[in-house]
Amino acid sequence: MTGATRSTMPVMGEGFDVPMSLLRAFAGVALTNHGQTLDALASRGGLAPCEIVALLERRRWRSMPREAAVARVRAALDPDVLEAEARRAFRASHKAICRECNREYWRHEWTDHRFGDDPFLHRLCNGDIVKL
Ligand SMILES: [Zn+2]
Repeated sequence: MTGATRSTMPVMGEGFDVPMSLLRAFAGVALTNHGQTLDALASRGGLAPCEIVALLERRRWRSMPREAAVARVRAALDPDVLEAEARRAFRASHKAICRECNREYWRHEWTDHRFGDDPFLHRLCNGDIVKL
């Protein structure tokens, strides 16, 4: 049944699912990272929390603490968390340098906020949310 369209993606080892509607915008990242469609991945048991975070941030997979990954996935599912983050976001230059990692702001991960399908806020190392 790998051809079937799934409505949810199981989160491996966590006992909850993520709505596929949240992940469809990242189908291309899933293909790059896993060489399979979202539906095929879901039918084969789902994705690990850190794999889902990689999709949400449109990047390759990298190891991260399981608790942090689960927290990111849960936050992506919680409209209250997203709204609170959007409210505390501030404008900054994309060339500004993060004090913690010395990388430019634009190199930091996207948050889960979307304008249409596109992310538009970055999360800095200290947790600040910025609009560049
Ligand atoms: Zn940083």
